[in-house]
Amino acid sequence: MKITFIAVVMMLMSTLTAAAKEVVKRDVIKTSAGDVELFFIGHASLMMTFQGKVIHFDPYGKMANYTTLPKADVIFITHDHNDHFDLEALQHIQKRETVVILPPICSERIPEGWVVTNGERLDVQGIDVQVMPAFNMANKRANGQLFHPKGIGNGYVLSFGDKRIYVAGDTENIAEMKALKDIDCAFLPMSTPSTMTPEMAANAAQAFRPKILYPYHYKETDPNRLTELLKDTPGIEVRIRQLR
Ligand code: ZN
Ligand code: ZN
Repeated sequence: MKITFIAVVMMLMSTLTAAAKEVVKRDVIKTSAGDVELFFIGHASLMMTFQGKVIHFDPYGKMANYTTLPKADVIFITHDHNDHFDLEALQHIQKRETVVILPPICSERIPEGWVVTNGERLDVQGIDVQVMPAFNMANKRANGQLFHPKGIGNGYVLSFGDKRIYVAGDTENIAEMKALKDIDCAFLPMSTPSTMTPEMAANAAQAFRPKILYPYHYKETDPNRLTELLKDTPGIEVRIRQLR
């Protein structure tokens, strides 16, 4: 009885994972503790798998049908804007034991969440997580307010074995980003005017030198512009994926 149940669950999981692979392309990052699979759902929505765990970032229902995606062990939310914080999409991938990591501004709507702020370091189910600031220094709305004021949003650096993956959230090329070290893989937002221009993203990348750089959240910006800007910078591989 027990074996049958486990077999069914495993079959179901592999079917779901196979379905997800068809919908969104994936890359594999080799680490000392096993592979990380990166799934490019769209815009700022990402999914990663590691050691059997499913990790989602900023699930957004406009990017995928979340009822068909694998349920999350961990969900990271960067901030409260509706293209990052979509309660309905989140609930589709949430199970009772799912850990939801989120900034204070999102905590009211998810009281069971784990609230974290800029600069914190945490262990999330054995994964070391560094919480980064994410904010604008220059880009403002018509009313004069910054699109992303300092101290509201989070970025996250996750360590998987010997590899570090940075998901920046909505931010400009802030000093804290430029000071990062040993980043194997970075997701940097590139959309004008709310996050970075390709020039700002290139400037950040030249400072902290991620080995692999994925522009994401790039909307109408041409991601190839980033490849062009970094073509003479050694050690950075720009990878363009469907993350408009
Ligand atoms: Zn935003
Ligand atoms: Zn956004």
